[in-house]
Amino acid sequence: MPLCAQISCLNASRNIRIGLVSQGLPDTWKIEPSSGFIEIFDQNKRQSVYSGKAAEIVITAMKGGKMKVAVDARKSLYYFSNELLFSAVGRPPINLKVRAGGRKSFSYRGSIAIFPQSGGLRGVNVVDIEDYLKSVVPSEIFNRAPDAAQQAQTIAARTYAIRNLSRHSDKDNFQLCDKVHCQVYSGIAREIKAASKAVIETAGKILIYGNSPANTVYHSNCGGYIIDSRAAWKGASVPYLIGHFDGISGHKPFCYYGKLIKTNSLKGKLPAPQKKIRIAQLSSAAKASTHKNFGHRVGMCQDGAIGMAAIGYGFRQILAFYYPGTQLATMRYAVPTGKPVEDRPIVVASLPQTTPVSLAAPPNPTQVNALRRSGKTRKPGSIKGALRQISENGSGYTAVGLRKLFWTPGEPGISRNIY
Ligand SMILES: [Zn+2]
Ligand SMILES: [Zn+2]
Repeated sequence: MPLCAQISCLNASRNIRIGLVSQGLPDTWKIEPSSGFIEIFDQNKRQSVYSGKAAEIVITAMKGGKMKVAVDARKSLYYFSNELLFSAVGRPPINLKVRAGGRKSFSYRGSIAIFPQSGGLRGVNVVDIEDYLKSVVPSEIFNRAPDAAQQAQTIAARTYAIRNLSRHSDKDNFQLCDKVHCQVYSGIAREIKAASKAVIETAGKILIYGNSPANTVYHSNCGGYIIDSRAAWKGASVPYLIGHFDGISGHKPFCYYGKLIKTNSLKGKLPAPQKKIRIAQLSSAAKASTHKNFGHRVGMCQDGAIGMAAIGYGFRQILAFYYPGTQLATMRYAVPTGKPVEDRPIVVASLPQTTPVSLAAPPNPTQVNALRRSGKTRKPGSIKGALRQISENGSGYTAVGLRKLFWTPGEPGISRNIY
């Protein structure tokens, strides 16, 4: 059975309602259509109430939950208690410049819906989700990030939006808000070329796990180790939000390279991309306490994604690495008729079959010394030899973990300076 039949989220409408909550509930809204023509539509009566020339429309809150609409101060049109939808019509560019109360103006694609709410007027941008993402993605990632990182970030943001479409109540009468509670959105002004390109190149693609959109959380820099969602927030296990080394055995973490690229301080070569990435999983309890500026460290490491993209990995590989076991699917609205909706499952990153390494309680120096004393190491007296010995006794990934670890007996865990 095709995925689209099983997974209802893929059928979500292309147009979404973004509550302009950051503009508050002012008494007046001013709308200027870029084309000089406006269509005003009564959403409840399903009929057009005005269509024609307009430079500026002023909507004012009236007593009794009604609103007055004035077109170019020529005449006050009507009193309404229903939601009105304002759309610019005519020659492109088609957008609306909107000013709430005495605040500064913002320009939006799509249409603006205005309705009375709690004594004021609520503004909602009814917009194509793909256009919405063009404004959201630049707020979420380093603007000069390489293409594949922009694409991975776009898919994470799209998945997040689709997953949270019912986050606000029916009473709110919008699906997502424009604040950090959902995703920061400020319309056309925030758009940049690189992100818009990534939106077009990944049109409609989201990450799914089972029958639902995945929980595509991300953070700015993990410091070298992604942690399990349970270590960050408790709760149930999320199979694709596991703790693991942010890189490949024998190399520096991806975010180490990402940060160098962001700061233009890369000297020397990047490692070559590998065909298959083995994920060096950590224990679910592994958690470092020292990174206070790096966010929650669950899911995608944004600097790591930039590092992977710069090394030469594509967005599929980046997403497979940070959300292992998820699958890419395409929203139905973005699928040309007759084409299959699902993408091939991602296989480029595979989980290890070995016992997870515990970062919460790494072998302490006493153990290392005991091994050294026992003379069983390859090079007696060598710390490196002792570490190799431990790794051979345990999992094949321990060595990688330990090489990156600098623990102190009083404070086991990841040190501040793992680079
Ligand atoms: Zn919200
Ligand atoms: Zn990282």
